[in-house]
Amino acid sequence: MKIGAALGFNLIDYPGKIAAVAFAPGCNYSCPHCHAKPILGAAAPINEKDFFNYLTTVRDWVSGVVICGGEPTLQPDLLTFIRRLREANLAVKLDTNGSNPAVLARLLAEELVDYVAMDIKGPRHLWPNLTANPGAENAMLESMQLVTRFPTYEFRTTVAPVLRGGEDITFLTVPEMSAAAKMLVEVTGGNTHKYYVQKFVPRKDGLVDARLESFPETPVQLLQDIHAEVLKYIPNTQLRG
Ligand code: SF4
Repeated sequence: MKIGAALGFNLIDYPGKIAAVAFAPGCNYSCPHCHAKPILGAAAPINEKDFFNYLTTVRDWVSGVVICGGEPTLQPDLLTFIRRLREANLAVKLDTNGSNPAVLARLLAEELVDYVAMDIKGPRHLWPNLTANPGAENAMLESMQLVTRFPTYEFRTTVAPVLRGGEDITFLTVPEMSAAAKMLVEVTGGNTHKYYVQKFVPRKDGLVDARLESFPETPVQLLQDIHAEVLKYIPNTQLRG
């Protein structure tokens, strides 16, 4: 599998585990607030063999691997890579934008992944603005249903600035996040999901849309107001910094 970057190991990216992190380059979305896509597009790839060698050196501490991106499900040999991780008795967490339900279905069928985290970009009517991929709507809806069948899963939304046309760029609003939460409940048929509402953090070193580099972080008050609203629909909603 193509690995665009590897991030040592940490306790944050895989809740409850010390995990190494592998970033897959390439994404079929161009979310304006994304910093990963530009960085991974410019990074020199890491040899898969070197990554497994690294895992051997940290095996006493590391019990899992997080595969994120970019969009890992675009990698043609993702399943082969994950099978190797499983053979090494490592737990696997996959982060996805939900654009590839066929791959999620295969991962489910082979019971290859322990934990899936899927981005809910915002309310459905804003997906084209938030992903720059208007054709992925049905795929994302199907993925939302599939994700709930993995042993552990989470949904998450970054409260990001939205390009609303011209120079009109403003953060997702409380009513928009309310609509996103209601949609999540309707599409999945449940409300017990772990759902994280995350702040947008600007970066000066390259976002997909450079206009967002000078935006502030998501205001704390907005995050708190969104949290209070979304809790009405999904009781296990948490704010993540
Ligand atoms: S934030 Fe958007 S563009 Fe960036 S990796 Fe995720 S899905 Fe792709």
